[in-house]
Amino acid sequence: MANREKNKKTLLELVKLPENSCCADCGAADPDWASCTLGIFVCLNCSGTHRNLPSVSRIKSIRLDFWDDELVQFMKANGNRAAKNLYEKFVPVFYYQPQPDDCEVLREQWIRAKYERMEFTEEKTERPYTAGVYEGMLWKKGKDNGQFLERKFVLSVHDFTLKYYKEDESKGPKATISVKDLNATFQPEKIGHAYGLQITYCVDDHTRNLFVYHKNGRVNLWNFLFFFPALFPIILIPWITRSYLKEGYMEKTGPLQREPFKKRWFILDSLDRKLLYFKTRLDAIELGVVFIGSENHGYSVRECVPKGTRGNKWKCGVIVETPDRQFVFMCEQERDQREWVEALKTVISKPMMPQDYTTEANIRRRR
Ligand SMILES: [Zn+2]
Repeated sequence: MANREKNKKTLLELVKLPENSCCADCGAADPDWASCTLGIFVCLNCSGTHRNLPSVSRIKSIRLDFWDDELVQFMKANGNRAAKNLYEKFVPVFYYQPQPDDCEVLREQWIRAKYERMEFTEEKTERPYTAGVYEGMLWKKGKDNGQFLERKFVLSVHDFTLKYYKEDESKGPKATISVKDLNATFQPEKIGHAYGLQITYCVDDHTRNLFVYHKNGRVNLWNFLFFFPALFPIILIPWITRSYLKEGYMEKTGPLQREPFKKRWFILDSLDRKLLYFKTRLDAIELGVVFIGSENHGYSVRECVPKGTRGNKWKCGVIVETPDRQFVFMCEQERDQREWVEALKTVISKPMMPQDYTTEANIRRRR
């Protein structure tokens, strides 16, 4: 019994050391779990992924589980820094390393690559995802209806494009998307599938959304692992994935602010400084877009209780001032209102980059 207490105390001291104080896999603070086969401390979320890899990792709670002397010594001899030196020694510079808020898919890719496939323990010149052309089937939501149909997707690393085809391939691709103009976010809840993905790209200055999922994601994990890094090579992830700063419904009125409010699905893309809105959250094409510039250029945001508005069911107002127009949005709850103001402030407080001026001019021209 004495050992049990002593071992627990040692573990709690170990996890407080700077080298162990963040999750070994995603960097989240104060990990509460440990892999006693890999000798690392991880957060609750990453521990879940480790549990699915019994051949390489065994997870224990550092507070609740029993630890014998030998295992505690093993943890002491290893730890997160030692594991990083071993398992992350040759991570390519472009390789995406997940953050604490990233979804399960990205974490799982990273953890499997590190410990199961040991991809980064040695220097390699050829990696599977740097080869040429990949293709596979994804289920894609129809543009104007909710029906998902199986479509062939082809990713070419040579010309850096993603194409997809309808049943009759002889007609050529339905779309050819330059990977540079493409954004992909994992959206399991929105699409209603564990491996649901929202692919966004621009056509003539308009945003187009594709909602897809891979059928075998859950059932056959290997199939998925082969397919997904193929379709979205993980080295491209920094190019193509950005999580939207905030998404959700708000009500919106027209330019005179006397038009009736309509409920719209909003997406704030902080990288492109765009607040996009759609009729519903699974719409292929946006209804409109508001450019969000910086404070120095006359943009601001604040909470408000607007007077004289009508048709709004919701009461928590957000006002966005732009040099040429004031926008009024209504949120259902104070929490949404606060989150929208905070998210918009984050964008407004960032200085504008040269390309932002082009985006701003294009959006104004469209109006
Ligand atoms: Zn973690």
